[in-house]
This record gives sequence, C-alpha cells and structure tokens, in this order.
Amino acid sequence: MDVCPLPQNEAERQNKVQSLRSLENAEDEVFEKLVALASEYFEVPIALVSIVDDNRQWFCARVGVDVVETPRRDAFCAHAVMAETLFQVCDALDDPRFRDNPLVVGEPGIRYYASVPLLTEDRLALGSFCIIDTKPRPPLSPRDESMLESLAQLAMLRIRNIRKATFIDQPTGLYNRLRLEEDVESALRAGQRITVVAADMIAPAFLNDIVKVLGYPFSAALMLHIKTRLQQALPEDYLLYKVSPTRFGFIVEGGGREAVESLSHRLADVFAAPIECEGIPLQIRFGAGILNLDPALDNRDWLRLLVSSADNARETGVRWRYYEAALDHAQQRAFILLSSLSKAVHAEDQLRLEYQPRVDVLSGRMVGVEGLLRWRHPQLGGISPAEFIPLAEKTALIRPLSLWVAERAIEQAFEWQRRGLDWKVSINVSASDMDDADFVDRIIELVRSHQIDGSCLELEFTESVLMKNPEEVRRNLFRLRDQGIELAIDDFGTGYSNWSYLRDLPASSVKLDQSFMRNVQTEERDQRVVGAVIQLARQLGYRVVAEGVETEELYRLMQWWGCDEVQGYYVARPMPAEQLESWMQSRD
Ligand code: C2E
Ligand code: CA
Ligand code: CA
Repeated sequence: MDVCPLPQNEAERQNKVQSLRSLENAEDEVFEKLVALASEYFEVPIALVSIVDDNRQWFCARVGVDVVETPRRDAFCAHAVMAETLFQVCDALDDPRFRDNPLVVGEPGIRYYASVPLLTEDRLALGSFCIIDTKPRPPLSPRDESMLESLAQLAMLRIRNIRKATFIDQPTGLYNRLRLEEDVESALRAGQRITVVAADMIAPAFLNDIVKVLGYPFSAALMLHIKTRLQQALPEDYLLYKVSPTRFGFIVEGGGREAVESLSHRLADVFAAPIECEGIPLQIRFGAGILNLDPALDNRDWLRLLVSSADNARETGVRWRYYEAALDHAQQRAFILLSSLSKAVHAEDQLRLEYQPRVDVLSGRMVGVEGLLRWRHPQLGGISPAEFIPLAEKTALIRPLSLWVAERAIEQAFEWQRRGLDWKVSINVSASDMDDADFVDRIIELVRSHQIDGSCLELEFTESVLMKNPEEVRRNLFRLRDQGIELAIDDFGTGYSNWSYLRDLPASSVKLDQSFMRNVQTEERDQRVVGAVIQLARQLGYRVVAEGVETEELYRLMQWWGCDEVQGYYVARPMPAEQLESWMQSRD
C-alpha cells in the first residue's frame, strides 16, 4: 500500500486532530481501561485508541504494541476513518490492500483488524478504536459489533470531556485562552480576516490585592459580575473568552474598523461606572487591545501583540489601542535586555561602576562619589541604567544587580580606605531591596568583612521605598543606620514628598531631583520652590545635595541657597575609578 486514502473533509479533520495532540501518550486511566477491556473481551492481543494525524497515526492508549506511532500510509486506521461505521479485515493476507503492508509482513504481524471510527459531533472521524489479532478471524457477530461501537463511543466521549475541561475557564465557565487560540487559528486557516479584541479589566496586581484583602471567592464573584456586564454589552452572537485572570477576549469576524471601535467605545462606557460586588463598589480599569489579522500574513505572534496592546491601553488609560509596531519594538527590546542582563551579572566585562564626585559647596573639596552602573551589551553597546534599571526592577533581576553593585562599591571603598583616601561611596538601591532583610544582611556582612567604616558607604533610595511594607523598610533602614551606614533620599521633591512620612526615615541627606535644575534658571516659580524645598530640608536636619548641576551659574545659585553639596557635570562627569584618582590629583 503506497497511497493512503484521504477523506473528503481532510482539512477540517486535520484542524480537529491538531487540537488533540495533548492527548498523545496521555496516560489517561479511562483510555487505558477501555483498551484493556477490549483486549480481554475480544480476546485479542492488541487494542488501540488511534488518532490519524497528518502523516502518521498515534495512540491515546494501546495494549500489545510497543511503538507509539506508525506512518499513516501503513495504518489500517487510515482506512477506518474513511467510513462512518465498522471497518473489518478478516485476513490481511487475503486482502490486496494490505497483503504487502509492513505491519502485516513484519511486526506485529497483523492478520485480523476491526475498528470503529471516533466521530465528532459533526461527523469527522479523528481516528478509530480498533482491535487487532495476529491470526485471521471470522467477522464479528452483531453483538460484538455493537460492543466495539460502544467502546468507540466511550473513547470519543472521553476525548470530548478532556477537551472540554482544557478549554474551559473554571470560575467563569467561559472558553479559555487555549480555545481562543484554537478558534483564531482555525479561522485564519480557513482564510478568514478577523479582528481579535482583548479587554483588560483591572491590573493583575490589583486583582492580587483584592484576593489578599477580600479573599478568592470575592475575586471570583467580581469576575462573574464583569463577565455579565460584558456579555450584556456585546452583541448576542459574540462568544466571550477568558484569556487571563484579568482579561477577556472576543473575535469580530470580518469586522470593519468603525464597528470594532464603536464596540470598544461602548464597552469602555459600560465599564466607566464602578461594579458593585457584594456591596463593595470597585472601579474597573478598562482598556482594549485590538488586532486585525489577515490570513495572508505571518500571524505567529498575534497573542503576544494583542495582550501587549491591551496592557498598554489599560496602563495608559486610553480606551483602546491597536497593536502598534513601536510598542512591540519597545517590548522586544525590553525582552532582549532582560534576557541578557542575567548573563551580564556573571560576565566579567559587561558591567562596571563609574564614580561621580560630590563636592562640598563651600570648600569645593570632594566629599564622596556616587557609584553609577554602566552596562556594555556585547551586541547593543552601552545601555543606560535609566533604561535597564526600571526593567530589572520589574523582575527578580534587580536583586543580583543590586548585590553586584554593592559588592563592587564596597570593594572599591575598601581599596580607597586602604590607601588613605576616605571617600564616601554612595550606591543606588531599589525600593524592593529595602524591604528585603536578606539584602540588608548581606550589605552589613560585606561592610564588616571588609572592615570599612560604615560611614564610607551610603545608600541612595527614593521615597517610593515607603510604598510597600513601610514597617519592614523602616526596620531595615534602622539596622543599616546602626552600622553607621549613611542613607540618602534620592530624586527628592519629585514624588509624593510627604514630609511627615520623611521624618520617620533615618536618612541624613536628600538629593534634590535634577528636574529642579533644569527649570530653575528660567522659571521664577521653580526658583521659589527650590529655595523653599532646600530651606525646609535643612530645617529638618538633612544635608542637601544638588544633583545635575551643569553650569557655574547653577553652582553659585546652589551655594547661595544654602545647599551643602553639589554633584553634576559642572564639577565632573561620572568616570572609572582610576580616572577619578587622576582627576583628584589634578585638582590638588
Ligand atoms: P540618579 O541616581 O538620579 O543618578 C544621577 C544621574 O544623573 C546619573 O545618570 C548621572 O550620570 C546623571 N548626571 C550627573 N550629573 C549630571 C548633570 O550635570 N547633567 C545631567 N543631565 N545628568 C547628570 P545615569 O548614570 O545615567 O543613571 C541614571 C539613573 O539610573 C540613576 O539616576 C539611578 O536612578 C539609576 N541607576 C544608576 N546606577 C544604578 C545602580 O547601580 N543601581 C540602581 N538601582 N539604580 C542605578
Ligand atoms: Ca542616585
Ligand atoms: Ca537622583
């Protein structure tokens, strides 16, 4: 048999078969029982639940054969899927279609074969339930025929149940992401142009908080309320999917731009009012991502693109956003940077620290340096910390990075101290570092083991450290303080600047945000603000450091306003340690 017969609806059949591949070697107890039962009842050595795929057959369950698949061209079951009823070969050696078949002349030596196709509701045969003997046999009695049919039906029921379970989102009962993927892909295979919409409802972190504060049943109830409101707003024949814990989705077939936009508009309107769940009103943050899919194009990445535009729409507070290439480039770059960053931490030559001097504003003497991280990516070249630090902060990568910086800076401080240079080294730490007792332990340990003076090290952090776990953060800061380690509040004056809050922090200096410097020379109002901020900070007992001072004029202004220290290009740019040393010498 060289050519294998193909059913008329083969393309459609294949679509279904593809979605079954998770059942391959499923080791499902029900399937196992069914084939064991068949083998026992019919007294045959071999029984199979076989799926006829593209160019092979594979088994959901099998007894009596070791192979897990065979080429489709040899498969008896490939013939079985041609019919809707029993297919039986009483002696393969007598049958011209099979007498030279490798499965007949070789292992396992098939002589008798009987099978009933596994039929879907729309009568596509996915494969068959079959029994095989190595001896010829008479045809099945009507009773046995109906037994085999029942077994095939049971196997098919099982397939359907498994599939259903993998496609249903439990709490909402909606189809899930897998099912959306399957439906989108099958529409594209069928040559349809479609629009897919992902509707984000709340930030995942917010949902987490809801679960923490109000419990899982509440969050499940909330999602049900959202689902109902969505379903009411969508046209009746739309199928709603639950794509992630906080995101729904639907497909608009052949939808024109206007139709899709007005629909998204309506959804945004509908979700403008809070949802009341068990008496508690909750504000939804709706944002829709819209993606047009053309079967003629490469659509491999569609789900990622869709999700990223929905995410972006929600985060930026726009009602909807079409997938935009720029958005995607930014994400791809973020992905590349993050995936190379963990390697960079272990590479010898990618990361280094540069040091920028801080000078006493009156004497002009250098009092310390700020260590600033530099990364040279092997392909992309120098990457600014302003780009990669915020990315790392969103992941667990910030931890090894902060440790790397701390280790390097403390070694450097030790080295300088050994040579009689008592320069304080400041490093930047992230908010998440400060609520981690292990990180703080490690810093204290490093300071001790290098026997440097605690006051040779300063940690700079922004007010955002207090956003989460303020108690834990305070505890950690005091532990550092107890070791004599200095603490500075960075980018001061930008954020929340809750003064009463700040008084709780054991910091000794504040670093004015650079944005002040940018405006101060031109805007009179800013001048008054900066003057007031400096005064207030000093009254609260902080040393005030002006950052980003680029001109002599600004330097004088800072002096005049009573700043203690200045850091900026006017004094010096950040530079490698050796260069800093010669810079110092040249100033003497
Ligand atoms: P930052 O802590 O506010 O650091 C000061 C930034 O201003 C540095 O940028 C510095 O090079 C730059 N700068 C200094 N003087 C001037 C000036 O006169 N004019 C202008 N226009 N800029 C000046 P850099 O090195 O690109 O770092 C950017 C930010 O990245 C830092 O802002 C800090 O938030 C973060 N960062 C840098 N290194 C680290 C690190 O090791 N760990 C952490 N967590 N963050 C870091
Ligand atoms: Ca800083
Ligand atoms: Ca700063």
